[in-house]
Amino acid sequence: MGILLLSILMVVTPVYFCCCVQLSFQESCLNPFLQELNSSLAEHVIRFANEPEIVTWMKMIRRKIHENPELAFEEFSTSSMIRHELDQMGVKYRWPVARTGVVGTIGSGSPPFVALRADMDALPIQEMREWEHKSQVDGKMHACGHDAHIAMLLGAAKILQQLRNHLQGTVILIFQPAEENGEGAKEMIREGVLDNVSAIFGLHVLNKYSSGTVASRPGPFLAGCGSFKAVIRGKGGHAAFPQESIDPILAASTSIISLQNIVSRETDPLDSKVVSVTIMQGGDEFNIIPESATIVGTFRTFSRKNFYALRKRIEEVIKGQSAVHRCSAEIEFDGEEHPTLPPTINDERIYEHVRQISRMIVGEENTELAPSFMGSEDFAVYLEKVAGSFLLLGVRNEKAGSVYPPHNPYHTIDEDVLPIGAAIHATFAFSYLLNFTKCSHYL
Ligand SMILES: [Zn+2]
Ligand SMILES: [Zn+2]
Repeated sequence: MGILLLSILMVVTPVYFCCCVQLSFQESCLNPFLQELNSSLAEHVIRFANEPEIVTWMKMIRRKIHENPELAFEEFSTSSMIRHELDQMGVKYRWPVARTGVVGTIGSGSPPFVALRADMDALPIQEMREWEHKSQVDGKMHACGHDAHIAMLLGAAKILQQLRNHLQGTVILIFQPAEENGEGAKEMIREGVLDNVSAIFGLHVLNKYSSGTVASRPGPFLAGCGSFKAVIRGKGGHAAFPQESIDPILAASTSIISLQNIVSRETDPLDSKVVSVTIMQGGDEFNIIPESATIVGTFRTFSRKNFYALRKRIEEVIKGQSAVHRCSAEIEFDGEEHPTLPPTINDERIYEHVRQISRMIVGEENTELAPSFMGSEDFAVYLEKVAGSFLLLGVRNEKAGSVYPPHNPYHTIDEDVLPIGAAIHATFAFSYLLNFTKCSHYL
């Protein structure tokens, strides 16, 4: 820890406490004492994260994980590598959590607890880009940047471990499996990773933004996501005698057309929803009307209320259209009681805190207000339980070739952003614990 940061921590903290308790959080962030403290902390952290050996080490981790991608709940060697690195640092951890997950702890071991999260899983995609550290596993690839998320969180662990004696509580490091299938966060929560946690932070690299830009927004950020499968049954027969059959293909077709009207005719144009039918299956021969047809799709909204209303209408429309054509329909929704993934809703106070930390690390000019968008992220499941914030970290750099979107076989990242991600994680956790401990209104 730098002398400057240490002296500020010792001198400013008691003074800050007196001032802070009378201010709102928004005001307290403008408190010059806190600003000085946070910017000194951010300065120290970014300097440490950018030390050449730390950068080289983070790149090495990202590349090793990239070479050996593992799908949801199969992240055994990824998890083993994470544990090895935590062992090297002397960070304690719990394992296995949710089959392959690792949960590290740094700090006093006492409340408050603040959590940082990285996801570990890869995708069933064949990497097409030729480079030194290309995926060694056919048909599997880190095409969503989760390899970078792990390297950044391990980088943050190294920084926080160095600062451990100054942490005003405990940092929980969540390395979770299975983000891509939407199950990882749910299992981690069932195994208690959020017990006593007051706040959580997570980030995602994204090629939409230039390297070093961070983007987020308060409130609803990413959409909630659900899926459905409808089996429409009729009566099979010879296609030359349709009067002797009940045609499920026709019922499926009119169902698909009518589903489009829910968004275009029943929704306020200023409200945002999506219904997309993505699979249609039925029949095997040109001259046979089949017994049944199946349609599968997804739907997205930004509120739980809209989510359930939309789900109800999807069921009504498919059943109604099937009945018009004398068919019956059975509809299954993924997740009986809950959406597959709820909307990602950032807590306004934590968002503001992260924004100020980000501004200190990447500068005001590189801190953007992101628009809401229809993608989904299982970090949302944590945000249903505790206050937190999620942000996007730009990795777009033409020279690094990192111009392809997530889930693309040419996807890659600009590795020069690894220290930025590590620094944001570490600075947020450190300063959150300080705020929590010193500001009664932050409880
Ligand atoms: Zn993804
Ligand atoms: Zn992802």
